Amino acid sequence: MEILSTPQELQEYRKSLDGSVGFVPTMGALHKGHLSLIERSVKENDHTVVSIFVNPTQFLPGEDFEKYPRKEEADRKICELAGVDALFMPQKDAIYSEDEVLIKAPKQKGYILEGHFRPGHFDGVLQVVNKLFHLVRPTRAYFGKKDAQQLYLIQKMVRDFFWDIEIVPCEIVRDPDGLALSSRNVYLSPQERQKALLISKSLKRAAKLAQSGERRSEVIKEAMMAILEPLKVEYVEIVDRNFNIRESIEFGDTIILVAAYVGETRLIDNIWM
Ligand code: AMP
Repeated sequence: MEILSTPQELQEYRKSLDGSVGFVPTMGALHKGHLSLIERSVKENDHTVVSIFVNPTQFLPGEDFEKYPRKEEADRKICELAGVDALFMPQKDAIYSEDEVLIKAPKQKGYILEGHFRPGHFDGVLQVVNKLFHLVRPTRAYFGKKDAQQLYLIQKMVRDFFWDIEIVPCEIVRDPDGLALSSRNVYLSPQERQKALLISKSLKRAAKLAQSGERRSEVIKEAMMAILEPLKVEYVEIVDRNFNIRESIEFGDTIILVAAYVGETRLIDNIWM
């Protein structure tokens, strides 16, 4: 496996490749969720490039950029064993310059829900993903449904900027008890981890209600809020695949989303129906 740390090295490497290229952008501290994206890319492409970059521009002041888990050695092993061809691990200064040209997330869909509570977060996400797409020029890029709004905005950026890249949405990987895997789960104490299960529980309850005939968003959100009561909820929302708020559930075109703090740790989760 090639370890690349500068954009120039990555561009040179890319020129040497023939055939399809799968790309999995991550912030590292890899877990089975990341691994599922990587394995899918390895299976579906001639070459797979993984990036690990804790992107400073997508963190707001006061967020966990400094303490975000970094596990370079373990990540390297995981990628190697999974059959990754090249791992791109740049330093911040290799990616960003002074007073850059900036990409803005859409004024509406980039500033509701996650974007409302983390204003500017998606500007940073799109800025870095756009740069990475230029360097990797992937045939396919793999993103988790766990970050549903991010996935939607990346698909939108690909359309709006005429990128010839297939965005592949990947299922959410969970621990057996239902907790969605996240690099941030390491922040949770054992007691907090138990409490965090309320998030997936509320989503399961929502799905059950919908399946038993309750389609009204208000009623479903209320039932979820009752379960989430012990947590500091930021939002519970029901949207369609294009992130328009839904008054009622329609199977095949609904995503139910939760963002909540468990102690100091902010977690997000969702279910696609
Ligand atoms: P991150 O390192 O958090 O930026 O995540 C990198 C990619 O992995 C993103 O596309 C995420 O949506 C995806 N991802 C993170 N957690 C999971 C999970 N539990 N299941 C599936 N994909 C995930």
